[in-house]
Amino acid sequence: GGTKPWKLKTMVHCQPWVQLAGHAGNFQAGENGKLLKKYCQCEQLCLQQLMNDKLRPFVPGYYGVVQHNNQDYNLMDDLLAEFDSPSIMDCKMGSRTYLEEELMKAREHPRLRRDMYEKMVAVDPSAPSPEERAQQAVLKPDYMQWRETLSSTATLAFRIEGIKKADGTCNTSFKKTKCKGQVTKALNEFMDGNRQLLRSYLQRLEELRCVLEISNFFKTHEVVGSSLLFVHDASGLARVWMIDFGKTVKLPSPQTLDHRTPWAEGNREDGYLCGLDNLIQIFGEMLQN
Ligand code: ATP
Ligand code: MG
Ligand code: MG
Repeated sequence: GGTKPWKLKTMVHCQPWVQLAGHAGNFQAGENGKLLKKYCQCEQLCLQQLMNDKLRPFVPGYYGVVQHNNQDYNLMDDLLAEFDSPSIMDCKMGSRTYLEEELMKAREHPRLRRDMYEKMVAVDPSAPSPEERAQQAVLKPDYMQWRETLSSTATLAFRIEGIKKADGTCNTSFKKTKCKGQVTKALNEFMDGNRQLLRSYLQRLEELRCVLEISNFFKTHEVVGSSLLFVHDASGLARVWMIDFGKTVKLPSPQTLDHRTPWAEGNREDGYLCGLDNLIQIFGEMLQN
């Protein structure tokens, strides 16, 4: 048969799809402005629920599970589809990026890890405690908690995972971008100091915060390792979406979170709104300067 109309459209408008985080093999470009992400049940449940939540305009549209080469995928909107040579930024939200469940699992079999000790020393020779130094090893839960203090995750409750600009430059080495000044500098570079863009993003972030504060989905989920995807192009179009729900889990009813209360083990608070508050504050300060 001949080329189907949708296929032609895809070919005409096709642009290399850009991925800023995660394993490259987890994604396949789909047809018609859609994207396939390797199946994860947790993510499926979230996206299904989000389609009936007030947050729907802030997440990629979800179209169910599809198979490709014997692998299941979640089919969703490619958020870059409506942009022309987009600049994109992935900000991982929250004051911790592992689930309480993962911490508990790491504690069940508390083995001393030499590999993690070595990673720790490679980043910061002064990081291990005297005891860890004597053992030349660290416990995984301690390593997990230390890692969060390297970036702005522990202090600002968000961190930049990656930035790819329209000019092709790409930076994913923000693992040690920690203080507000460094973060501000990276944000400024992302927007090339364009104040109109800054205003558009700030407005979108404020709208998102309003909706998060009334969303039933948000209230009833521990949202960990999820990102805000910032996208703009030369036309001035600038949007922000929530992506990556691979570690977003429903709380046992009737438990709810406010996403601002500091985390204490067992309360499952994730600091998501602290991160958004900080982002909004930083964008606001950038506009003043
Ligand atoms: P990780 O858990 O390591 O963050 P992951 O495999 O869960 O990775 P995501 O974080 O969901 O993957 O996505 C990785 C990257 O792919 C994002 O930073 C973004 O650049 C791109 N991406 C993800 N979802 C979309 C989407 N719906 N539209 C456009 N780009 C997307
Ligand atoms: Mg991610
Ligand atoms: Mg993920």
